[in-house]
Amino acid sequence: MLKLLFLSTPVGPLGSGIGGGVELTLLNLLQEMIRRGHEVKVVAPKGSVVTGVSCQQISGTWQEMIQNNHRDTPIVLPENSVLGNMWDYAKRVETDYDLIVNFAFDWLPFYLTPFLDTPIAHLISMGSMTDALDEIMNRVARKYPNTIGVHTNAQAKTFSFNDICRVVGNGLNLSLYNYCDTPDHCLAWVGRIASEKALEDAIEAATRVNIPLKIFGKVTDEEYWQTIRQNYPSAPYQYEGFFNTVELQEKLGKCKALLMTPRWVEAFGNAAIEALACGVPVIAYQRGGPAEIVQHEKTGFLVEPDSVSGLVEAINKIDSIERKQCRQQAETDYSLKALGDRFEPWFYELVK
Ligand code: UDP
Repeated sequence: MLKLLFLSTPVGPLGSGIGGGVELTLLNLLQEMIRRGHEVKVVAPKGSVVTGVSCQQISGTWQEMIQNNHRDTPIVLPENSVLGNMWDYAKRVETDYDLIVNFAFDWLPFYLTPFLDTPIAHLISMGSMTDALDEIMNRVARKYPNTIGVHTNAQAKTFSFNDICRVVGNGLNLSLYNYCDTPDHCLAWVGRIASEKALEDAIEAATRVNIPLKIFGKVTDEEYWQTIRQNYPSAPYQYEGFFNTVELQEKLGKCKALLMTPRWVEAFGNAAIEALACGVPVIAYQRGGPAEIVQHEKTGFLVEPDSVSGLVEAINKIDSIERKQCRQQAETDYSLKALGDRFEPWFYELVK
């Protein structure tokens, strides 16, 4: 039995959606580690919603989202940083734990690694973003090989330490996702509404095939969202809102396909496996995590990156995908058990 301390993302509280996929990843891993008999405590920004386990709520100013940084943007820590406060707490209690699991894609946890006595597993949720962050991660990776976990090989390849990190995939509590065999005449788009996700490509494709597009997710870049609304005043899309898993899966399950249009190298793409779990085929650009998830022509289509006509072609062929195969893939590759089978041995290796 391991005693684990999970340090959440510092960009916002768990449950807010600001953290994107990492929020769901943390909660799923938490659930599976507890089911396996491990003891887990979560440390997260104040306002986080975590049920069933102890969560140390930490106040302080959230970190800025790193997605809008340039390669040479320096590291920024605000006054009374929640990230700093979370690590102050970790330092105080570290001797009570076998392993600290860091979910923050940020500089400070890597910098602090040699200053703590307890081993740290860093689960990173994005591809390479800035030089300063790459440098510190590289230093940790070389000094403590295999302490950095990534979700996919495509994500790993964006880093120079790709040969010494651990690829752990991801997984879901499939019992929360219902299989739906009878979709309505609509398409889905799921994610944080921000420029790296290129929602405009999905809107453009939906317009060309004239099928309604339902948009689910948190608006994390308001300016970007307003630009989209101005640019597509009469496109057939509907912004549905941000939902919890139970509601999201119900609405997502009723869609004919999920469109995944990220402009960046998506580290994984939780939205892809959530769609598959509902029996919804995924049409994604062939880059990043989704390219390693979608089985082309079996559980969806991988199309040329940034090609709206590629998306259109795939939408026109969507009925050739058997929705049962999608659910089947989720059950085989992305169950909580599959997730635990990849993470648990990694954690044991690090505490040796
Ligand atoms: N999501 C949600 N409710 C919504 C729309 C999205 O909880 O209405 C969550 C979804 O479950 C997924 C996350 O938002 O976990 C998006 O994660 P993904 O890995 O696809 O992208 P990221 O935001 O991490 O880049």
